[in-house]
Amino acid sequence: MSGRRVAFLGLGAIGAPMAAHLPADALTVWNRTRARAEAFARAHGARVAATPREAAAGSDVVLTCLPTSREVEALLDGPDGLLAGLGRGALFLDCTSGDPATSRRLAARLAGHGIAFADAPVSGGTNGAEAGTLAIMVGADEETFARARPILALMGSRIEHVGPVGSGHALKAVNNALLAVNILAVGEGLAALVKAGVRARTALEVINASSGRSFVSETLVPERVLTGMWPRTFRLALLEKDVGIARGLLRETGVDGPLLDLAGELFGRARAILGESADHLEAIRLIESDSGVEIRG
Ligand code: NDP
Repeated sequence: MSGRRVAFLGLGAIGAPMAAHLPADALTVWNRTRARAEAFARAHGARVAATPREAAAGSDVVLTCLPTSREVEALLDGPDGLLAGLGRGALFLDCTSGDPATSRRLAARLAGHGIAFADAPVSGGTNGAEAGTLAIMVGADEETFARARPILALMGSRIEHVGPVGSGHALKAVNNALLAVNILAVGEGLAALVKAGVRARTALEVINASSGRSFVSETLVPERVLTGMWPRTFRLALLEKDVGIARGLLRETGVDGPLLDLAGELFGRARAILGESADHLEAIRLIESDSGVEIRG
């Protein structure tokens, strides 16, 4: 890591706390809305680039954390694009929860310019990003993973090489599809239990000492739904995107996915009703309003 210049592009809800773990004297940041990059630089001391090209110029490592692979791919081209600034031998780490096919295409394009690529999506939420304890699942060849690991270790506590390019994104999509299914199942089950006269907190305490427990029942619902706080840390629109990627993976591999298809449809409906800035857990709000009950306690 020492002596290497790093660029980070995409200072959103998770990108900003991740970038805050990188050494400020070696760091250049770029964000589409420049004011966010400037606020980050004031707080952390990094340099602000005016364009992706400027961020990439002179950088040994470039990290991206954008909504989807589409936005990452769109940053490559044009006079101000990343490819205009990146030099041969650079390392490109995409921390977006992206899609495997686009990552394979990106990796092939970048290889033609002498640039190594890894997909390195993260899990652990904004709290994990702040604490530097993210799980990071890396799709890359062995040599690229060895180069990526020390940089990713600044932001995460579990850095796992899960397979070739694209496999980090595939694993992340399946993980998040499981999260989506859990949110819906816990929301539906609790709504019914509350209507049947069981206190939501009591129901969760018993479930969390039983075989139905999950991260959703143990942490997310008690901290965010029962309290009525509904903090916005991870947009529902992004989780819907992840379920879509997982559904694509099932199709590509010839696995029937009726459960994920239904989760995708329900999250698509939630996105249409609740909008682009709603938090992922707000899918439970729709279950509440559809069933005429509040899950609190
Ligand atoms: P946000 O919506 O908070 O931030 C998105 C970032 O992408 C912002 O910096 C935004 O810039 C930028 N951006 C959006 N559109 C474009 C574009 N067309 N061109 C260039 N930049 C663009 O998302 P998150 O930070 O929450 O998520 C980023 C990625 O990380 C997603 O793939 C998400 O699924 C994943 N993720 C998120 C987690 C979370 O808890 N939030 C957890 C794990 C993974 P601007 O400031 O201008 O809007």
